[in-house]
Amino acid sequence: MQKIVLMGECMLELRQAKDGVMNHSFAGDTFNTAVYMKRTFAQQDIAFMTAVGQDSISQQMVSACSSENLNNQHVFAHGDRNPGIYLVQTDEHGERSFLYWRDTSAAKQVMQYVDQQAIAELCKADLFFFSGISIAILEPQDRDAFWAMLAQLKQAGVKIGFDPNYRPRLWNSTDEAKAEFATAYAASDIMLPGVDDFKQLYAIESLDDILTFCQPFDIEELVLKNGPESVYCQLHGQLTHVAITPVTNVVDTTSAGDSFNGVYLGARLAGKDVTTSINLAASAAGIVIQHPGAIAPADAFDSLHSILTKK
Ligand code: ADP
Repeated sequence: MQKIVLMGECMLELRQAKDGVMNHSFAGDTFNTAVYMKRTFAQQDIAFMTAVGQDSISQQMVSACSSENLNNQHVFAHGDRNPGIYLVQTDEHGERSFLYWRDTSAAKQVMQYVDQQAIAELCKADLFFFSGISIAILEPQDRDAFWAMLAQLKQAGVKIGFDPNYRPRLWNSTDEAKAEFATAYAASDIMLPGVDDFKQLYAIESLDDILTFCQPFDIEELVLKNGPESVYCQLHGQLTHVAITPVTNVVDTTSAGDSFNGVYLGARLAGKDVTTSINLAASAAGIVIQHPGAIAPADAFDSLHSILTKK
C-alpha cells in the first residue's frame, strides 16, 4: 500500500438554495483532491493534513474525512481556533460568488503542530502534495518551517507534488506569490498547474512559454491542465498531449482541477501510464463538473470504476 499525504485547509461550505435554505458540506482544494483520490484508488493510504478546532463543526469535519475513508493521523486539533467558512451564492443568471471567513482559521496554524515526531511520520509517505492555497493560508512566520519540513521529506525520498492554484486574494502581492511559488517549483517532482495560473501570475499562456518558464526548475513530471481544451504532460522531457472531450452539461466547475489531480496522482502511483492517467482524471473531472458543489455524490463515480476495472 502506498501512502499519500495532502496538506491544506478544509472549510465549512455553506450553499444557499433557491428557497433560502442553507445547505452545508466540507470542501477545500487539497481535501477535495484527497477525497477523489481515495474514492478512485481505495487501496491507497490517503491522509489529509490540517489543523481543525475542538468545536462541533471541527468534529463533523473530521467525521467527513473518516466517512471518505481518509487517514486522520495528520489532522491536528487546535486549542482555540475553529475551521474557516465560505458561502456560495448563485444569482439569477447562474453566476456564483464566494464569501470567505477564514482569516483566523485553525488550518493557518497547522505548522505549530509539526514537530520532529510528526515529520518522522510524514517521511513514511510516498508522496506529499500541497497547493498554492496550502502555502498562502499559512501564517507568514510559519512558512520557513514549512519549507524546512518539505526539505526533510524530500531528503527522506518522499516525492513532492504541487498545484499552484493561484488565488490573488490570498496573497499580499504578486511578488510574494511568485517568490513562494518559485520555492515550490524547485522542490516539486510532479506539478499540476492550470494554464490560468501562468496567465494570471506571469502573463504567459502558450505551451512553449510555459515549458520554457518551468525548465530551470527541473520538474520530473509536469501536467498542464487547460479546462476543456487539452492536457499536456512532460515526463522526463517527453511530451504527451491528450485532447479533452468537452462536457456539454456543465453545472459547476468547482473542483474540476482538484478531482483531476486526485485521480491523476492516484493512477500514476498505481502504475498507470501518463495517457491512461490523464484519461481517467479527465473522466473524473468531467463527472464532477456535472454536479453542484466541490464533492460529487459517490455513486456518480460508478462509471469511472467500471473503466478502471476493465483496464
Ligand atoms: P483548474 O481548476 O486547475 O484550473 P481546469 O479548469 O483546467 O483546472 O480543469 C481541470 C480538468 O477538468 C481539465 O483538465 C479537464 O479534464 C476537466 N474539464 C474542465 N472543464 C471541462 C469541460 N468544460 N469539459 C470537459 N472537461 C473539463
